[in-house]
Amino acid sequence: MVNKNPSLIEHVSSLKGVGDKSSALFEKCGIKTVEDLLSYFPRDYDICEEIKNVSDLASGEISAVRLTAVGNIAVKKVRNLSILTFKAGDVTGTLQITYFNMPFMRNNIKPGKYYVFRGLVQKKGNSFVMEQPKMFKTEDYLEIMGSMQPRYPLVKGLSNQLVIKTVKQAIPSTPYLEEMLPSYIRRQLGLMDYSEAVRKIHFPANMEEFSTARRRIAFNEILEFILRLRFLKRYEEQSINDYNYKSSAQSDSLIDRLPYKLTGKQLEIWADIKSDLTGKNVMNRLIQGDVGSGKTILAFLSLLFTAENGYQGAIMAPTEVLARQHYEGFIEMKERYNLPITPILLVGSLSVKEKRIAQEGIENGDYNLIIGTNALIQEKVNYNNLSLVITDEQHRFGVQQRERLSEKGKNVHILAMSATPIPRTLAIILYGDLHISILDEMPKGRIPIKNCVVGTEYRPTAYKFIADQVKKGHQAYVICPMIEEGETDGLENVSDYTEKLRDSMPSDIRIRTLHGKQKPSEKESIMEEFARGEIDILVSTTVIEVGINVPNATVMMIENSERFGLAQLHQLRGRVGRGKDQSYCIFINTSGREEAKQRLDIMNHSNDGFVIAEEDLKQRGPGDLFGIRQSGEMSFHVADIYQDAALIREAAALADRLLSEDPDLIMEENSPLKQWLISNSFDFTAL
Ligand code: ADP
Ligand code: MG
Repeated sequence: MVNKNPSLIEHVSSLKGVGDKSSALFEKCGIKTVEDLLSYFPRDYDICEEIKNVSDLASGEISAVRLTAVGNIAVKKVRNLSILTFKAGDVTGTLQITYFNMPFMRNNIKPGKYYVFRGLVQKKGNSFVMEQPKMFKTEDYLEIMGSMQPRYPLVKGLSNQLVIKTVKQAIPSTPYLEEMLPSYIRRQLGLMDYSEAVRKIHFPANMEEFSTARRRIAFNEILEFILRLRFLKRYEEQSINDYNYKSSAQSDSLIDRLPYKLTGKQLEIWADIKSDLTGKNVMNRLIQGDVGSGKTILAFLSLLFTAENGYQGAIMAPTEVLARQHYEGFIEMKERYNLPITPILLVGSLSVKEKRIAQEGIENGDYNLIIGTNALIQEKVNYNNLSLVITDEQHRFGVQQRERLSEKGKNVHILAMSATPIPRTLAIILYGDLHISILDEMPKGRIPIKNCVVGTEYRPTAYKFIADQVKKGHQAYVICPMIEEGETDGLENVSDYTEKLRDSMPSDIRIRTLHGKQKPSEKESIMEEFARGEIDILVSTTVIEVGINVPNATVMMIENSERFGLAQLHQLRGRVGRGKDQSYCIFINTSGREEAKQRLDIMNHSNDGFVIAEEDLKQRGPGDLFGIRQSGEMSFHVADIYQDAALIREAAALADRLLSEDPDLIMEENSPLKQWLISNSFDFTAL
């Protein structure tokens, strides 16, 4: 499959309208070739809505209304800004329309004539306002009404319009895309051709086309994921536990010396881990436990057990901040309880010399507890006698890591810890009979978080509340879905929001911005400053989601919360309520819509991640497609474990049938599938 059709491997700069500058912007989005561009799927679509009456408008919604100007069109100058305003209405009511720096609009609007205006409706005082709406002749609007315009993930400087124009030119190359699914599978499951799916995911004629295209693309991702897991399981079933764990005296006595009593569930899981580590096959266990349920101590006990028996154990965290947090916690435990462990931190930001010292010490066995990020499984690290690898908050929990480790010829015990509460039914389908322990009992004495779901009019109150908490010495998070202006209309972005907050907060409150496009070192230093209490309010995107522990933070405010999945909101909320003080979570329902409020009310009534995940699964019908994608989970691009629960079941059943008939995919008809897995760096020779 190396010989791609030339039109697919051509550089995007060969397409019309893509000069050096745009070319660089495309590369920023990871797009080099025409094929990359075709795999750059829309994040969302703009549907030109049915035309509404003014009396049916709701604040916070993008709507189309058919209006005629009522009264004067005024243009005033404020400094160098020209502001054009007028009242417009239909038979059911009026609203105000405003355009900035577009004085010529005055000539475009003929008295007595009706036009369609489409834009975000906002409530100002007692009336509705639309700022900068798009204006259409009625007949033009009727033509596009109901159609879906793709909206792509953008970077500053790259316009959606340019991406659309460029993708349109690439569409004729779609027939050359490889079809990886044998036709009998496509027929059985009613899946469309891959090339057709790619065409339609970019430019669906309607919802139905979108859904069938999306289903096909999601299926690819899910099938690949499940096949990888199944092959891995086969490999592991043949994996004998070569380690010899004898005494657990240190870990068991530590349990009695802790300042708190382990919960019943923690003790149960600890017993399971011990029996895995001393069993016939290597351990392969997932602990799912809600945020704050106390997974770290289980990891620590396992690592201590490992060290006590003369082996090395490693724990991998998704970020350096989390790795450091673990390292410091473990050092403290070592000193307080005088434990036989020698922890070492291995992360990307260490100096070359520090890294070398760490690597040498790991290689010659000076360190028996290694804490780090993905750096731990990089080529350069040679372990002395590694027997246990723990992954913390890595939602793909180890599929790839395990492959990497097995490439190194190691056959280690794996313990994965995740706070993403995948409903148990789904977890079993996805992971087969991988051992799953569910930690669903919270340590005693936690103060439940107080929640509220409110509209945008509550913001001033919320800001005052946050300022009060800061005055009391606490810290707060404010979450916005976007990074900068222009990514998606009507959604808050952290850049502008930070400015807005600085204007509305007392000037001595220290406010900083955090988002995924900052350099890793910058992100790390901001998070560390926040952890040290040198920042009062952190305005962040969802990058903050994973595991950061700042017990002094007591308020979480989430803007556009209606656009997030409930499970993700729960993860975000888990950043507060970690200390001894009462914590609060404010969900801003920017849409003002009643259905959104009802959905968010689940957050209001439950602090239990499993309840929320199950509810989320129930509530999300297949038509519920326009939320911001759940991030982090399993790193699918299109598929979504909640929304695609049914598809996951089908893919799992298919994978099992396929592998029972053709265990090594050697049959002729399955060869495209095998080739595709190999081109996605799946290593069949490791089996
Ligand atoms: P998570 O499961 O989110 O990783 P942590 O392991 O960080 O949660 O635990 C959160 C806090 O709860 C830690 O401060 C930890 O010391 C404490 N903790 C863990 N187990 C118990 C327990 N059984 N009783 C009381 N506190 C506990
Ligand atoms: Mg944790």
